[in-house]
Amino acid sequence: MNKVKHRAMSALIIAALIIVGLGVYIVRYLEDGAKWATFAVGGYTSGVVSMGTIVDRNGVVLANADGSSRTYAEDWGVRRACYHAVGDYTGNVGTGALSSFAAQLAGYNPITGTYARGGREVKLTIDSRLCVTAQEALAGRKGAVLLSNYRTGEILCMTSNPTTDPADSTAEIADGTYLNRCISVSYTPGSVFKLITSAAAIENIPDLSQQTFTCWGSVDVAGVTINCTGSHGEQTFEEALANSCNVAFANISLQLGGDTLERYVYDYGFTRSHKLDDIVTAGGSFTKDNPGTPGLAWSGIGQFEDAVCPYSMLRYVSAIASNGILQEPTLLVGKDNGSANLMQSTTANKLRDMMSYNVQAHYGAWNFPGLNLCAKTGTAEVGDGTSHAWFTGFLLDEAHPYAFVVIVENAGAGITAAAPVANAVLQAAVNG
Ligand SMILES: [Zn+2]
Repeated sequence: MNKVKHRAMSALIIAALIIVGLGVYIVRYLEDGAKWATFAVGGYTSGVVSMGTIVDRNGVVLANADGSSRTYAEDWGVRRACYHAVGDYTGNVGTGALSSFAAQLAGYNPITGTYARGGREVKLTIDSRLCVTAQEALAGRKGAVLLSNYRTGEILCMTSNPTTDPADSTAEIADGTYLNRCISVSYTPGSVFKLITSAAAIENIPDLSQQTFTCWGSVDVAGVTINCTGSHGEQTFEEALANSCNVAFANISLQLGGDTLERYVYDYGFTRSHKLDDIVTAGGSFTKDNPGTPGLAWSGIGQFEDAVCPYSMLRYVSAIASNGILQEPTLLVGKDNGSANLMQSTTANKLRDMMSYNVQAHYGAWNFPGLNLCAKTGTAEVGDGTSHAWFTGFLLDEAHPYAFVVIVENAGAGITAAAPVANAVLQAAVNG
């Protein structure tokens, strides 16, 4: 009898284990089934039956797989300009739509475990024509261009160089080609960082509007000389931003202190990664230095150990353009990633007015014909004697509510190297 009891008990235990195992499997299947099924999309197996089509906002086909063939856009320029947004069938660009939106493309169904017949169409918010314009304006230089609608969050232009033609398997691959510099790289920000220091100053220095800042080309901070790009004389806060005066912003950084600066950098999302739909973006960095130190002064000028991802800067200027409310960006037509109150509306509006003044009084509105532009330049020293050129801002234009970030690596001054790229893309976006 004991033998029978033991056998029954063993059978029960085995049955229980099977049921538990099956339960775990079903839960994991429902959670991860799409990932398992579309693992192939990255190019790990060749058994993909169907995978769908990626089109831009105007219906231009950017990639199409129907089981027997895998193709990219017809046009060579579109293939190169949209390479990072779309990705490739070999999975080299891990942040591309082919990898990131694989489940949507396959039309995967967890109940039946099947793909939609012929796959699905995924419509990206990007305009391939604008990506081509931006890529041409970069003119072979390394860099990144982002342009979005700050009301809807739709990213209209996202291009990165170096790039390649994914349809040409013999194309030479330059170093760093697989990185989307718009979302996966953080750079020394230089003077575009003064937009963050300015927000902290507006909210934390009560007599800011009564203060003046005198610049004779440099200032001594604890025995270290901080050089300015000019000799700006006596300036108001507004003029100091328009002049991008390092002497004034060294003073402001020392007044604010490292704790306050660090808090603003964090609160505005510059140190953290973000999720652009399912794509994780690069975080940045900020090191606070002690009171009265040259490190603290430089950290508020966008040098020292500051690093900013262009995508984080796009979020920031989008919020400034929109009374402090950030509509989170998206790459998928019809998707709403929600909105958040990133900064006080009075601060946003003050920054907006100062960025408008920058263009009117210093950058020259004639450089941006027909555009009601608010912007800030950056010329970030990167240690090898060269500078990264930045230009970021937005249009005050309800018909064309566009925010943008341009960075051109090792290209010199923001106003001469990055601003013309921004103008080219904005003109194409506004005038068609
Ligand atoms: Zn100065």
